[in-house]
Amino acid sequence: MSIESLARSEIRDLRVYETGAQASGAIRLHANESSWTWDGDVDSLNRYPEPRPATLQTCLAERFGVAEENLLATRGSSEAIDLLIRSFCRAGEDNIVILPPTFVMYSVFAEIQGAEVISCPLLAENDFKIDINSLLNKVTANSKLIFLCSPNNPTGNVVSESDIVRLLEARKDQSIIVVDEAYVEFSDVDSAARLIDNYDNLVVLRTLSKALALAGARCGAVIGNPALIRMLNAVLAPYALATPVIDCVLRALSSDDVTESKVRIEETIKERERLLESLAECECVQKLWPSQGNFLLVHFRDLESVQKRLETERILIRDIGGDFARITVGSADENNRLLAVLNE
Ligand code: PMP
Repeated sequence: MSIESLARSEIRDLRVYETGAQASGAIRLHANESSWTWDGDVDSLNRYPEPRPATLQTCLAERFGVAEENLLATRGSSEAIDLLIRSFCRAGEDNIVILPPTFVMYSVFAEIQGAEVISCPLLAENDFKIDINSLLNKVTANSKLIFLCSPNNPTGNVVSESDIVRLLEARKDQSIIVVDEAYVEFSDVDSAARLIDNYDNLVVLRTLSKALALAGARCGAVIGNPALIRMLNAVLAPYALATPVIDCVLRALSSDDVTESKVRIEETIKERERLLESLAECECVQKLWPSQGNFLLVHFRDLESVQKRLETERILIRDIGGDFARITVGSADENNRLLAVLNE
């Protein structure tokens, strides 16, 4: 059985929308574009971009260490989450499984699609460790997608490769295991993408929004077996990525900028460790956890009073309820300003 047969039947039968040919130098009277450009338009924005930007796909596949047929570029990994849920979950019948606290958009996209959300909470008293047995106990025959976030937003811990493999094997032919690696560059684990040829129920999500500092460009990728990628390709809107986005991402993936980003990632990791140590000394902090992302999860004694003090300095942190907050690792200067307020 192929894993794509778990998809909604309408999606399995979809054909890729055929866009107008892109032959360069041709007189383009086939796409209802305008023939003129605005002053200063160096990108030929009167023309549609490539329906699927081939060079960008090649560069992303190279960056993420997979074959091109295993990857589809998307508008951030958010869009990949939406594509998967829309493609696999029948409203009112199928469900997704999540391990909260985790990235909230899994549930939001599931609600939009009318898919149930089954939660298998990660517990603070257990340092948010994933419990595969209790996860497998909660999964049902209609669990189409199991979302593992590694490193997990907001707890910062990773899912071990052995746990991922255990789930892939336990749910073979039954569920897709989605490993969301939005923050993997800040961690000491390898991408699960290296398992992609061995498990057709594995999907890995990557993004350029975090370690490559391109959140505003909206570019990410979904990685999976070639048949699954072809199916998602038929669901993704034609011309999904805009011409300026394609150009800017290609520039950033050029070797100089990649070297620069590596240095920046190292700096962020160092700052994360410094912040972890310094926050542990703060009177207002009850507990905090080591993190493999570019953020820290902090349990404050009284988050409301902390927020009041931070507000006066216009410093924003993310309240995630119950006196817990997620704090993004900023520049050294930003982190110092945060610590100064917390130590007041
Ligand atoms: N996954 C996780 C775990 C995230 O934290 C985020 C954004 N905060 C995303 C995916 C989505 O990122 P983007 O759409 O910018 O790629």
